[in-house]
Amino acid sequence: MIAVQLDGGAVSVVRRPKPRRRPGEALIRLLCGGICNTDIELKRGYYGFSGTPGHEFVGEVVACDEPAWVGKRVTGGINVGCGACERCLRGLERHCATRTVLGIVQRPGAFSEYFTLPVRNLHEIPAGLATETAVFAEPVAAACEILEQVKIPRGTAVAVLGDGKLGLVVAQVLAARGACIDLYGRHEEKMALVAGPRIAARSSNQRGNSTYEYVVEATGSAGGLREAVAMTRPRGKVILKSTVHEAVTLDMAPVIVNEITLVGSRCGRMEEALRLLARGAVRVEPLISARYGLSEAVRAFARAEEKGVVKVLLEGA
Ligand SMILES: [Zn+2]
Ligand SMILES: [Zn+2]
Repeated sequence: MIAVQLDGGAVSVVRRPKPRRRPGEALIRLLCGGICNTDIELKRGYYGFSGTPGHEFVGEVVACDEPAWVGKRVTGGINVGCGACERCLRGLERHCATRTVLGIVQRPGAFSEYFTLPVRNLHEIPAGLATETAVFAEPVAAACEILEQVKIPRGTAVAVLGDGKLGLVVAQVLAARGACIDLYGRHEEKMALVAGPRIAARSSNQRGNSTYEYVVEATGSAGGLREAVAMTRPRGKVILKSTVHEAVTLDMAPVIVNEITLVGSRCGRMEEALRLLARGAVRVEPLISARYGLSEAVRAFARAEEKGVVKVLLEGA
């Protein structure tokens, strides 16, 4: 089979044997994968990653101990916990200290003709939901996580900073749950993809001070956190969605004086994400900038790094 390989800052497509499925795991054939900023950071060599990336996927189960799954279209939770520790037993596999993470930590990813994931991580894609839409389940789930962590009353104004892939998804998810979004970015054409009655596109230069009770930082840049803190009202909350590889320096005085809560936020639950996508509450099709076959992954990664490009999809062989 073919698989995408990242090594020392370079992308290549390699041939290797099909992975062997361990007990409790499903063997999955890739139908569609999404390239995310994390993949681009892995490619650049951050986190010392070497191997096959890919954590946003839809695939078809081809082998599994439980025959009912075979032939099903699935996506999956990307964190694989040990299943036995106190965090796993509380349903917090994504915080298991010895977890592996699909395509990120100690587990070959989905940008491969075939890959494996435990059956307990799988979620069936509803029949009416297109594969290219469902492939956004992982970033939509990451956006849903915000609402698990912070209760945002309906009608509340929320600032979302960043008009990249994640910012555009976050804005839509929060709007679908009743928030009024001011989306701050530098690319009018990207923000126009999601602007509407509940999402107003604002230029980064229009940022006010101490304006919002809730500010979501999704810029992917070190400066974003500082800006987010400046925009937050006393006693407000800053939700951190960017994973920035470099150390961020922040003057803590405004955080302390204004009693601002910083909330780190990462992966979320897939169920709600699939529901929102199936309902059409989050429209992801306009975010698809390009599609490539798995064997064209080198070009696909190059494209994903170009300015103005939102989501690049990799289609299974
Ligand atoms: Zn991702
Ligand atoms: Zn565990």
